Amino acid sequence: MEKQVPHPQENLCPPRVLLFPLPEQGHVNRMLKLAEVLALAGLHVTFLTTPFIHNRLTRHNDIETRFASYPGFLLKTISDGLPEDHPRSGERKMELFISLNTVTKRLLKHMLATHQLGSNLSPSVSCIIADGTLAGFTTDIATELQIPILHFHGFCACAFWACSSIPNLIVTGELPVRDMDKLVTGVSGMESFLRFRDLPSFCRASDTKDPILQGIARETRHISRGQGLILHTFEELEGPILSHIRTKYPNIYSIAPIHTHLKLKLKLKHANKEVSSQPFNSLFEIDRTCMTWLDAQPLNSVIYVSFGSTTVMTNDQLMEFWYGLVKSKQRFLWAIRHDMVHIQGEGDDGKNNIPAELTEGTKERGYMVGWAPQEEVLEHPSVCGFLTHSGMNSILESIMAGVPMICWPYHADQQVISRCVSVMWKIGLDMKDVCERNIVEKMVNDLMVERREEFQKAVDDYRRLAIKSVSEGGSSYSNLDRLIQDIHKMNDKFPI
Ligand code: UDP
Repeated sequence: MEKQVPHPQENLCPPRVLLFPLPEQGHVNRMLKLAEVLALAGLHVTFLTTPFIHNRLTRHNDIETRFASYPGFLLKTISDGLPEDHPRSGERKMELFISLNTVTKRLLKHMLATHQLGSNLSPSVSCIIADGTLAGFTTDIATELQIPILHFHGFCACAFWACSSIPNLIVTGELPVRDMDKLVTGVSGMESFLRFRDLPSFCRASDTKDPILQGIARETRHISRGQGLILHTFEELEGPILSHIRTKYPNIYSIAPIHTHLKLKLKLKHANKEVSSQPFNSLFEIDRTCMTWLDAQPLNSVIYVSFGSTTVMTNDQLMEFWYGLVKSKQRFLWAIRHDMVHIQGEGDDGKNNIPAELTEGTKERGYMVGWAPQEEVLEHPSVCGFLTHSGMNSILESIMAGVPMICWPYHADQQVISRCVSVMWKIGLDMKDVCERNIVEKMVNDLMVERREEFQKAVDDYRRLAIKSVSEGGSSYSNLDRLIQDIHKMNDKFPI
Protein backbone atom coordinates (compact mmCIF):
# COMPACT_ATOMS: atom_id res chain seq x y z
CA MET A 1 0.00 0.00 0.00
CA GLU A 2 1.40 3.43 -0.98
CA LYS A 3 1.66 5.88 1.88
CA GLN A 4 2.98 9.43 2.15
CA VAL A 5 6.02 9.19 4.44
CA PRO A 6 6.76 12.60 5.98
CA HIS A 7 10.11 14.26 5.48
CA PRO A 8 12.29 14.55 8.68
CA GLN A 9 12.26 18.41 8.51
CA GLU A 10 8.53 18.55 7.89
CA ASN A 11 7.40 20.28 11.06
CA LEU A 12 9.99 23.05 10.69
CA CYS A 13 8.38 24.38 7.50
CA PRO A 14 5.03 26.08 6.96
CA PRO A 15 2.26 23.61 6.14
CA ARG A 16 1.94 22.65 2.48
CA VAL A 17 -1.66 22.77 1.26
CA LEU A 18 -2.73 21.09 -1.94
CA LEU A 19 -5.64 22.78 -3.73
CA PHE A 20 -7.40 20.74 -6.38
CA PRO A 21 -10.40 22.32 -8.18
CA LEU A 22 -12.81 20.78 -10.66
CA PRO A 23 -11.22 21.75 -13.99
CA GLU A 24 -13.76 24.45 -14.95
CA GLN A 25 -13.60 28.27 -14.97
CA GLY A 26 -15.79 29.07 -11.95
CA HIS A 27 -14.18 26.38 -9.77
CA VAL A 28 -10.63 27.27 -10.85
CA ASN A 29 -11.26 30.96 -10.30
CA ARG A 30 -12.44 30.73 -6.68
CA MET A 31 -9.93 27.98 -5.77
CA LEU A 32 -7.01 29.97 -7.19
CA LYS A 33 -8.17 33.01 -5.22
CA LEU A 34 -8.26 30.92 -2.05
CA ALA A 35 -4.79 29.60 -2.97
CA GLU A 36 -3.46 33.15 -3.17
CA VAL A 37 -5.11 34.13 0.11
CA LEU A 38 -3.48 31.12 1.81
CA ALA A 39 -0.11 31.96 0.23
CA LEU A 40 -0.46 35.53 1.53
CA ALA A 41 -0.96 34.01 5.00
CA GLY A 42 2.43 32.31 4.66
CA LEU A 43 1.31 28.78 3.81
CA HIS A 44 3.07 26.79 1.12
CA VAL A 45 0.58 26.09 -1.64
CA THR A 46 0.44 23.55 -4.44
CA PHE A 47 -2.23 24.37 -7.01
CA LEU A 48 -3.01 21.29 -9.03
CA THR A 49 -4.99 21.32 -12.23
CA THR A 50 -5.14 19.58 -15.59
CA PRO A 51 -2.87 20.52 -18.52
CA PHE A 52 -6.04 21.60 -20.39
CA ILE A 53 -6.77 24.24 -17.73
CA HIS A 54 -3.12 25.07 -16.96
CA ASN A 55 -2.38 25.89 -20.60
CA ARG A 56 -5.39 28.21 -20.84
CA LEU A 57 -4.56 29.86 -17.51
CA THR A 58 -0.98 30.58 -18.55
CA ARG A 59 -2.03 31.70 -22.04
CA HIS A 60 -4.43 34.37 -20.76
CA ASN A 61 -2.90 35.45 -17.42
CA ASP A 62 0.54 36.08 -16.09
CA ILE A 63 0.03 33.60 -13.25
CA GLU A 64 3.54 32.16 -13.26
CA THR A 65 5.10 35.56 -12.49
CA ARG A 66 2.30 36.43 -10.07
CA PHE A 67 2.78 33.32 -7.96
CA ALA A 68 6.58 33.30 -8.16
CA SER A 69 6.54 36.00 -5.48
CA TYR A 70 5.06 33.56 -2.94
CA PRO A 71 7.66 31.29 -1.30
CA GLY A 72 6.77 27.65 -1.76
CA PHE A 73 3.98 28.26 -4.32
CA LEU A 74 3.83 25.48 -6.90
CA LEU A 75 1.66 25.21 -9.99
CA LYS A 76 1.43 21.53 -10.90
CA THR A 77 -0.51 19.55 -13.47
CA ILE A 78 -2.20 16.16 -13.49
CA SER A 79 -3.82 14.45 -16.47
CA ASP A 80 -7.62 14.21 -16.65
CA GLY A 81 -7.11 11.14 -18.86
CA LEU A 82 -8.95 12.62 -21.86
CA PRO A 83 -7.54 13.38 -25.32
CA GLU A 84 -6.58 17.02 -25.92
CA ASP A 85 -9.45 17.67 -28.33
CA HIS A 86 -12.17 16.34 -25.98
CA PRO A 87 -14.71 19.15 -25.26
CA ARG A 88 -14.97 18.33 -21.50
CA SER A 89 -18.32 20.13 -21.45
CA GLY A 90 -21.99 19.91 -22.42
CA GLU A 91 -23.28 16.40 -22.95
CA ARG A 92 -19.77 14.94 -22.70
CA LYS A 93 -19.02 16.37 -19.26
CA MET A 94 -19.91 13.06 -17.63
CA GLU A 95 -16.89 11.51 -19.41
CA LEU A 96 -14.69 14.04 -17.61
CA PHE A 97 -16.05 12.94 -14.21
CA ILE A 98 -15.57 9.26 -15.04
CA SER A 99 -12.01 9.85 -16.20
CA LEU A 100 -11.15 11.98 -13.13
CA ASN A 101 -12.51 9.26 -10.87
CA THR A 102 -10.37 6.57 -12.50
CA VAL A 103 -7.23 7.87 -14.29
CA THR A 104 -6.69 11.01 -12.21
CA LYS A 105 -7.43 9.19 -8.97
CA ARG A 106 -4.61 6.71 -9.64
CA LEU A 107 -2.16 9.45 -10.64
CA LEU A 108 -3.01 11.68 -7.68
CA LYS A 109 -2.44 8.93 -5.18
CA HIS A 110 0.95 8.16 -6.69
CA MET A 111 1.99 11.83 -6.85
CA LEU A 112 1.11 12.35 -3.19
CA ALA A 113 2.81 9.18 -2.01
CA THR A 114 6.03 10.03 -3.87
CA HIS A 115 6.20 13.71 -2.81
CA GLN A 116 5.75 14.99 -6.35
CA LEU A 117 3.47 17.76 -5.09
CA GLY A 118 5.89 19.39 -2.67
CA SER A 119 9.15 21.32 -2.78
CA ASN A 120 12.54 20.67 -1.14
CA LEU A 121 11.51 22.86 1.78
CA SER A 122 8.06 21.33 2.29
CA PRO A 123 8.02 18.04 0.41
CA SER A 124 4.84 16.52 1.87
CA VAL A 125 1.30 17.74 1.63
CA SER A 126 -0.10 18.31 5.12
CA CYS A 127 -3.65 19.21 4.06
CA ILE A 128 -5.72 18.78 0.91
CA ILE A 129 -8.43 21.24 -0.12
CA ALA A 130 -10.37 19.43 -2.83
CA ASP A 131 -13.34 20.57 -4.86
CA GLY A 132 -16.58 19.43 -3.23
CA THR A 133 -17.73 17.92 -6.52
CA LEU A 134 -14.73 15.56 -6.40
CA ALA A 135 -15.20 14.55 -2.76
CA GLY A 136 -15.41 10.78 -3.28
CA PHE A 137 -12.06 9.86 -4.78
CA THR A 138 -10.08 12.66 -3.13
CA THR A 139 -11.33 11.56 0.31
CA ASP A 140 -10.50 7.91 -0.49
CA ILE A 141 -6.90 8.92 -1.26
CA ALA A 142 -6.60 11.26 1.73
CA THR A 143 -7.91 8.59 4.09
CA GLU A 144 -5.56 5.97 2.73
CA LEU A 145 -2.51 8.26 2.89
CA GLN A 146 -3.65 9.73 6.23
CA ILE A 147 -3.68 13.32 4.99
CA PRO A 148 -6.35 15.66 6.43
CA ILE A 149 -8.80 16.80 3.77
CA LEU A 150 -11.21 19.73 3.54
CA HIS A 151 -13.68 20.27 0.72
CA PHE A 152 -14.41 23.58 -0.95
CA HIS A 153 -17.92 23.69 -2.40
CA GLY A 154 -18.89 26.51 -4.70
CA PHE A 155 -22.65 26.05 -4.28
CA CYS A 156 -24.49 28.50 -2.08
CA ALA A 157 -25.64 27.01 1.24
CA CYS A 158 -29.25 26.60 0.02
CA ALA A 159 -28.15 24.66 -3.07
CA PHE A 160 -25.73 22.54 -1.07
CA TRP A 161 -28.44 21.75 1.47
CA ALA A 162 -30.87 20.83 -1.31
CA CYS A 163 -28.25 18.42 -2.74
CA SER A 164 -27.72 16.89 0.72
CA SER A 165 -31.48 16.34 0.90
CA ILE A 166 -31.69 14.37 -2.39
CA PRO A 167 -31.68 10.91 -0.69
CA ASN A 168 -34.48 12.09 1.61
CA LEU A 169 -36.48 13.46 -1.34
CA ILE A 170 -36.16 10.09 -3.08
CA VAL A 171 -37.16 8.08 0.00
CA THR A 172 -40.23 10.24 0.68
CA GLY A 173 -41.27 10.07 -2.96
CA GLU A 174 -40.92 13.81 -3.67
CA LEU A 175 -38.50 12.87 -6.46
CA PRO A 176 -38.99 12.37 -9.35
CA VAL A 177 -40.69 15.73 -9.77
CA ARG A 178 -44.39 15.70 -10.62
CA ASP A 179 -45.51 19.31 -10.30
CA MET A 180 -42.80 21.92 -10.91
CA ASP A 181 -44.74 24.70 -9.18
CA LYS A 182 -45.51 22.89 -5.94
CA LEU A 183 -43.48 23.67 -2.82
CA VAL A 184 -40.89 21.08 -1.74
CA THR A 185 -41.36 19.85 1.83
CA GLY A 186 -38.23 17.70 2.20
CA VAL A 187 -35.54 20.42 2.33
CA SER A 188 -35.78 21.70 5.90
CA GLY A 189 -35.64 25.43 6.35
CA MET A 190 -36.73 26.10 2.77
CA GLU A 191 -40.32 24.80 2.88
CA SER A 192 -41.84 28.25 2.47
CA PHE A 193 -40.21 29.22 -0.83
CA LEU A 194 -38.47 26.34 -2.62
CA ARG A 195 -40.56 24.97 -5.50
CA PHE A 196 -39.61 21.81 -7.40
CA ARG A 197 -38.67 24.15 -10.25
CA ASP A 198 -36.03 25.67 -7.95
CA LEU A 199 -34.29 22.43 -6.99
CA PRO A 200 -30.79 21.87 -8.43
CA SER A 201 -31.18 20.98 -12.12
CA PHE A 202 -30.11 17.34 -11.58
CA CYS A 203 -33.38 16.83 -9.66
CA ARG A 204 -35.33 17.21 -12.91
CA ALA A 205 -34.27 13.68 -13.95
CA SER A 206 -37.31 11.51 -14.66
CA ASP A 207 -35.67 8.47 -13.04
CA THR A 208 -34.26 8.62 -9.52
CA LYS A 209 -31.57 6.15 -10.60
CA ASP A 210 -30.24 8.76 -13.04
CA PRO A 211 -26.41 8.55 -12.82
CA ILE A 212 -25.92 12.32 -12.48
CA LEU A 213 -28.55 12.64 -9.72
CA GLN A 214 -27.07 9.65 -7.91
CA GLY A 215 -23.52 10.96 -8.45
CA ILE A 216 -24.34 14.36 -6.93
CA ALA A 217 -26.01 12.75 -3.91
CA ARG A 218 -23.00 10.44 -3.44
CA GLU A 219 -20.32 13.17 -3.73
CA THR A 220 -22.25 15.37 -1.29
CA ARG A 221 -22.40 12.48 1.21
CA HIS A 222 -18.63 11.87 0.90
CA ILE A 223 -17.96 15.42 2.08
CA SER A 224 -18.88 14.39 5.63
CA ARG A 225 -15.86 12.05 5.63
CA GLY A 226 -13.50 15.04 5.48
CA GLN A 227 -12.32 17.31 8.30
CA GLY A 228 -14.39 20.27 7.21
CA LEU A 229 -16.40 22.02 4.52
CA ILE A 230 -15.54 25.40 3.05
CA LEU A 231 -18.61 27.08 1.55
CA HIS A 232 -18.62 30.04 -0.81
CA THR A 233 -21.25 31.98 1.09
CA PHE A 234 -21.33 34.16 4.19
CA GLU A 235 -23.27 33.89 7.45
CA GLU A 236 -25.29 37.07 6.96
CA LEU A 237 -26.48 35.85 3.55
CA GLU A 238 -27.50 32.30 4.51
CA GLY A 239 -27.15 31.94 8.29
CA PRO A 240 -30.37 29.93 8.95
CA ILE A 241 -29.59 27.35 6.25
CA LEU A 242 -25.97 27.12 7.41
CA SER A 243 -27.37 26.13 10.83
CA HIS A 244 -29.27 23.29 9.18
CA ILE A 245 -26.14 22.17 7.31
CA ARG A 246 -24.13 22.16 10.55
CA THR A 247 -26.41 19.42 11.92
CA LYS A 248 -24.86 17.08 9.30
CA TYR A 249 -21.51 18.76 8.59
CA PRO A 250 -20.41 20.33 11.89
CA ASN A 251 -17.19 21.99 10.74
CA ILE A 252 -18.17 24.68 8.22
CA TYR A 253 -16.00 27.56 7.07
CA SER A 254 -18.24 30.07 5.27
CA ILE A 255 -15.68 32.46 3.85
CA ALA A 256 -17.26 34.39 0.97
CA PRO A 257 -16.68 36.56 -0.91
CA ILE A 258 -13.23 35.16 -1.56
CA HIS A 259 -12.44 37.73 -4.29
CA THR A 260 -12.90 40.51 -1.73
CA HIS A 261 -10.64 38.81 0.84
CA LEU A 262 -7.97 38.62 -1.84
CA LYS A 263 -8.36 42.27 -2.83
CA LEU A 264 -8.15 43.43 0.79
CA LYS A 265 -5.14 41.26 1.58
CA LEU A 266 -3.30 42.36 -1.55
CA LYS A 267 -4.01 45.97 -0.66
CA LEU A 268 -2.54 45.36 2.79
CA LYS A 269 0.51 43.68 1.25
CA HIS A 270 1.04 46.70 -0.99
CA ALA A 271 0.84 49.08 1.98
CA ASN A 272 -2.75 50.16 1.40
CA LYS A 273 -2.13 51.30 -2.15
CA GLU A 274 -4.98 50.34 -4.50
CA VAL A 275 -3.88 47.34 -6.53
CA SER A 276 -3.80 48.70 -10.05
CA SER A 277 -5.20 45.69 -11.88
CA GLN A 278 -7.21 42.78 -10.55
CA PRO A 279 -5.59 39.37 -10.39
CA PHE A 280 -7.17 37.44 -13.27
CA ASN A 281 -7.64 33.68 -13.38
CA SER A 282 -9.29 33.67 -16.74
CA LEU A 283 -9.49 30.74 -19.13
CA PHE A 284 -10.59 33.05 -21.95
CA GLU A 285 -8.97 36.03 -23.60
CA ILE A 286 -10.22 39.16 -21.88
CA ASP A 287 -11.41 41.96 -24.15
CA ARG A 288 -10.77 45.24 -22.30
CA THR A 289 -12.22 47.48 -25.01
CA CYS A 290 -15.53 47.27 -23.16
CA MET A 291 -14.04 49.35 -20.34
CA THR A 292 -13.46 52.23 -22.76
CA TRP A 293 -17.01 51.82 -24.02
CA LEU A 294 -18.33 51.85 -20.43
CA ASP A 295 -16.34 55.03 -19.70
CA ALA A 296 -18.32 56.77 -22.42
CA GLN A 297 -21.76 55.79 -21.00
CA PRO A 298 -23.79 57.85 -18.48
CA LEU A 299 -23.74 56.88 -14.79
CA ASN A 300 -26.00 53.94 -13.85
CA SER A 301 -27.25 53.39 -17.38
CA VAL A 302 -25.92 49.98 -18.51
CA ILE A 303 -27.07 46.43 -17.95
CA TYR A 304 -24.20 43.93 -18.14
CA VAL A 305 -25.14 40.56 -19.65
CA SER A 306 -23.11 37.39 -19.16
CA PHE A 307 -24.04 33.76 -18.82
CA GLY A 308 -20.74 32.57 -17.37
CA SER A 309 -18.24 30.06 -18.66
CA THR A 310 -20.34 26.98 -19.44
CA THR A 311 -23.88 28.07 -20.38
CA VAL A 312 -24.92 27.02 -23.85
CA MET A 313 -28.04 28.34 -25.58
CA THR A 314 -29.74 27.87 -28.92
CA ASN A 315 -29.69 30.51 -31.60
CA ASP A 316 -33.43 31.06 -30.98
CA GLN A 317 -32.76 31.81 -27.30
CA LEU A 318 -29.93 34.17 -28.25
CA MET A 319 -32.36 36.02 -30.52
CA GLU A 320 -34.98 36.32 -27.76
CA PHE A 321 -32.41 37.88 -25.42
CA TRP A 322 -31.09 40.13 -28.14
CA TYR A 323 -34.54 41.37 -29.16
CA GLY A 324 -35.50 41.85 -25.50
CA LEU A 325 -32.40 43.91 -24.80
CA VAL A 326 -32.80 46.08 -27.89
CA LYS A 327 -36.54 46.57 -27.31
CA SER A 328 -35.89 47.60 -23.69
CA LYS A 329 -34.11 50.69 -25.05
CA GLN A 330 -31.59 50.37 -22.22
CA ARG A 331 -27.82 50.37 -22.82
CA PHE A 332 -26.24 46.94 -22.60
CA LEU A 333 -22.81 45.32 -22.53
CA TRP A 334 -22.96 41.65 -23.49
CA ALA A 335 -20.18 39.09 -23.01
CA ILE A 336 -20.88 36.31 -25.52
CA ARG A 337 -18.35 33.45 -25.46
CA HIS A 338 -17.44 32.16 -28.91
CA ASP A 339 -18.79 28.71 -27.91
CA MET A 340 -21.96 29.88 -26.15
CA VAL A 341 -24.45 29.35 -28.96
CA HIS A 342 -25.38 25.78 -29.79
CA ILE A 343 -25.67 25.38 -33.55
CA GLN A 344 -29.11 23.92 -34.29
CA GLY A 345 -29.06 23.18 -37.98
CA GLU A 346 -26.96 23.31 -41.11
CA GLY A 347 -26.02 26.83 -42.05
CA ASP A 348 -27.28 28.15 -38.71
CA ASP A 349 -24.17 29.67 -37.25
CA GLY A 350 -26.07 32.42 -35.50
CA LYS A 351 -24.33 35.07 -37.59
CA ASN A 352 -26.50 34.91 -40.70
CA ASN A 353 -29.68 36.87 -41.17
CA ILE A 354 -29.34 39.17 -38.19
CA PRO A 355 -32.24 41.61 -38.52
CA ALA A 356 -31.26 45.22 -39.17
CA GLU A 357 -33.17 46.42 -36.08
CA LEU A 358 -30.83 44.35 -33.89
CA THR A 359 -27.63 45.54 -35.50
CA GLU A 360 -28.88 49.12 -35.44
CA GLY A 361 -30.09 48.88 -31.82
CA THR A 362 -26.76 47.39 -30.77
CA LYS A 363 -24.78 50.03 -32.60
CA GLU A 364 -26.79 52.73 -30.83
CA ARG A 365 -26.88 51.40 -27.29
CA GLY A 366 -24.98 48.13 -27.03
CA TYR A 367 -21.50 46.64 -27.01
CA MET A 368 -20.43 43.00 -27.29
CA VAL A 369 -17.25 41.21 -26.32
CA GLY A 370 -16.25 37.55 -26.12
CA TRP A 371 -15.12 37.69 -22.48
CA ALA A 372 -15.15 40.71 -20.18
CA PRO A 373 -13.11 41.62 -17.08
CA GLN A 374 -16.31 40.94 -15.11
CA GLU A 375 -15.35 42.14 -11.63
CA GLU A 376 -14.19 45.47 -13.07
CA VAL A 377 -17.25 45.74 -15.30
CA LEU A 378 -19.63 45.24 -12.37
CA GLU A 379 -17.79 47.88 -10.37
CA HIS A 380 -17.90 50.42 -13.18
CA PRO A 381 -20.11 53.42 -12.27
CA SER A 382 -22.11 53.19 -15.49
CA VAL A 383 -23.28 49.62 -14.73
CA CYS A 384 -26.49 49.29 -12.71
CA GLY A 385 -27.90 45.89 -13.64
CA PHE A 386 -26.69 42.36 -14.40
CA LEU A 387 -28.46 39.73 -16.49
CA THR A 388 -26.73 36.58 -15.28
CA HIS A 389 -26.94 32.78 -15.38
CA SER A 390 -26.64 32.97 -11.54
CA GLY A 391 -23.29 31.25 -11.01
CA MET A 392 -22.33 31.82 -7.36
CA ASN A 393 -19.12 33.70 -8.26
CA SER A 394 -21.13 36.08 -10.42
CA ILE A 395 -23.77 36.60 -7.72
CA LEU A 396 -21.17 37.43 -5.07
CA GLU A 397 -19.29 39.73 -7.44
CA SER A 398 -22.57 41.51 -8.20
CA ILE A 399 -23.48 41.87 -4.50
CA MET A 400 -20.01 43.29 -3.77
CA ALA A 401 -20.42 45.77 -6.61
CA GLY A 402 -23.94 46.69 -5.42
CA VAL A 403 -25.56 45.66 -8.71
CA PRO A 404 -29.09 44.09 -8.76
CA MET A 405 -29.67 41.15 -11.10
CA ILE A 406 -31.99 39.31 -13.43
CA CYS A 407 -31.30 35.57 -13.21
CA TRP A 408 -31.63 33.14 -16.08
CA PRO A 409 -30.26 29.96 -14.50
CA TYR A 410 -28.71 27.35 -16.77
CA HIS A 411 -27.96 24.33 -14.58
CA ALA A 412 -26.77 22.81 -11.29
CA ASP A 413 -27.02 25.14 -8.26
CA GLN A 414 -28.14 28.08 -10.41
CA GLN A 415 -31.84 27.07 -10.21
CA VAL A 416 -31.68 27.42 -6.40
CA ILE A 417 -29.58 30.60 -6.40
CA SER A 418 -31.96 32.43 -8.73
CA ARG A 419 -34.83 31.66 -6.34
CA CYS A 420 -32.80 33.00 -3.42
CA VAL A 421 -32.01 36.17 -5.39
CA SER A 422 -35.68 36.87 -6.05
CA VAL A 423 -37.55 35.74 -2.91
CA MET A 424 -35.02 35.39 -0.10
CA TRP A 425 -32.54 38.20 -0.66
CA LYS A 426 -34.90 40.21 -2.91
CA ILE A 427 -31.99 41.65 -4.88
CA GLY A 428 -33.36 40.89 -8.32
CA LEU A 429 -35.69 38.92 -10.56
CA ASP A 430 -35.87 35.24 -11.52
CA MET A 431 -36.47 34.48 -15.23
CA LYS A 432 -36.11 30.73 -14.77
CA ASP A 433 -37.41 28.46 -17.55
CA VAL A 434 -38.60 31.37 -19.68
CA CYS A 435 -36.86 32.90 -22.66
CA GLU A 436 -39.12 35.37 -24.44
CA ARG A 437 -38.24 38.78 -25.80
CA ASN A 438 -41.22 40.51 -24.12
CA ILE A 439 -40.30 39.12 -20.72
CA VAL A 440 -36.64 40.09 -21.21
CA GLU A 441 -37.70 43.60 -22.18
CA LYS A 442 -40.07 43.92 -19.20
CA MET A 443 -37.63 42.54 -16.66
CA VAL A 444 -34.79 44.76 -17.88
CA ASN A 445 -37.03 47.80 -17.43
CA ASP A 446 -38.36 46.59 -14.08
CA LEU A 447 -34.80 46.15 -12.84
CA MET A 448 -33.35 49.33 -14.31
CA VAL A 449 -36.32 51.69 -13.96
CA GLU A 450 -39.61 50.62 -12.35
CA ARG A 451 -38.32 48.76 -9.28
CA ARG A 452 -34.80 50.10 -9.30
CA GLU A 453 -34.84 51.76 -5.88
CA GLU A 454 -36.23 48.70 -4.14
CA PHE A 455 -33.59 46.35 -5.60
CA GLN A 456 -30.78 48.86 -5.17
CA LYS A 457 -31.57 49.28 -1.49
CA ALA A 458 -31.68 45.52 -0.90
CA VAL A 459 -28.41 44.84 -2.70
CA ASP A 460 -26.71 47.76 -0.94
CA ASP A 461 -27.78 46.25 2.41
CA TYR A 462 -26.23 42.89 1.50
CA ARG A 463 -23.13 44.64 0.19
CA ARG A 464 -22.70 46.34 3.56
CA LEU A 465 -23.13 43.00 5.34
CA ALA A 466 -20.60 41.36 3.02
CA ILE A 467 -18.06 44.11 3.66
CA LYS A 468 -18.60 43.75 7.40
CA SER A 469 -18.19 40.02 7.11
CA VAL A 470 -14.74 40.20 5.43
CA SER A 471 -13.54 43.00 7.72
CA GLU A 472 -11.55 42.25 10.88
CA GLY A 473 -13.81 40.49 13.40
CA GLY A 474 -16.49 39.74 10.78
CA SER A 475 -17.82 36.22 10.20
CA SER A 476 -16.01 35.43 6.93
CA TYR A 477 -12.83 37.06 8.22
CA SER A 478 -12.94 34.93 11.39
CA ASN A 479 -13.81 31.75 9.49
CA LEU A 480 -10.92 32.27 7.10
CA ASP A 481 -8.63 32.91 10.03
CA ARG A 482 -9.88 29.73 11.73
CA LEU A 483 -9.30 27.80 8.51
CA ILE A 484 -5.67 28.97 8.39
CA GLN A 485 -5.14 28.15 12.09
CA ASP A 486 -6.68 24.69 11.59
CA ILE A 487 -4.35 24.01 8.66
CA HIS A 488 -1.42 24.93 10.94
CA LYS A 489 -2.74 22.56 13.60
CA MET A 490 -3.02 19.78 11.04
CA ASN A 491 0.68 20.29 10.27
CA ASP A 492 1.56 20.05 13.99
CA LYS A 493 -0.31 16.78 14.20
CA PHE A 494 1.26 15.46 11.03
CA PRO A 495 2.44 11.96 12.01
CA ILE A 496 6.24 11.55 12.03
N1 UDP B 1 -16.29 35.92 -15.94
C1 UDP B 1 -15.44 36.84 -16.49
N2 UDP B 1 -15.78 37.37 -17.71
C2 UDP B 1 -16.90 37.03 -18.38
C3 UDP B 1 -17.77 36.09 -17.78
C4 UDP B 1 -17.44 35.55 -16.55
O1 UDP B 1 -14.41 37.21 -15.92
O2 UDP B 1 -17.12 37.56 -19.49
C5 UDP B 1 -15.91 35.32 -14.63
C6 UDP B 1 -16.79 35.83 -13.52
O3 UDP B 1 -16.24 37.02 -12.98
C7 UDP B 1 -16.83 34.67 -12.54
C8 UDP B 1 -16.56 33.46 -13.39
O4 UDP B 1 -16.11 33.92 -14.66
O5 UDP B 1 -15.81 34.80 -11.57
C9 UDP B 1 -17.80 32.62 -13.62
O6 UDP B 1 -18.11 31.94 -12.45
P1 UDP B 1 -19.61 31.67 -12.04
O7 UDP B 1 -19.59 30.89 -10.75
O8 UDP B 1 -20.38 32.92 -12.01
O9 UDP B 1 -20.21 30.80 -13.22
P2 UDP B 1 -19.68 29.52 -14.04
O10 UDP B 1 -18.89 30.03 -15.17
O11 UDP B 1 -18.87 28.67 -13.08
O12 UDP B 1 -20.95 28.87 -14.47
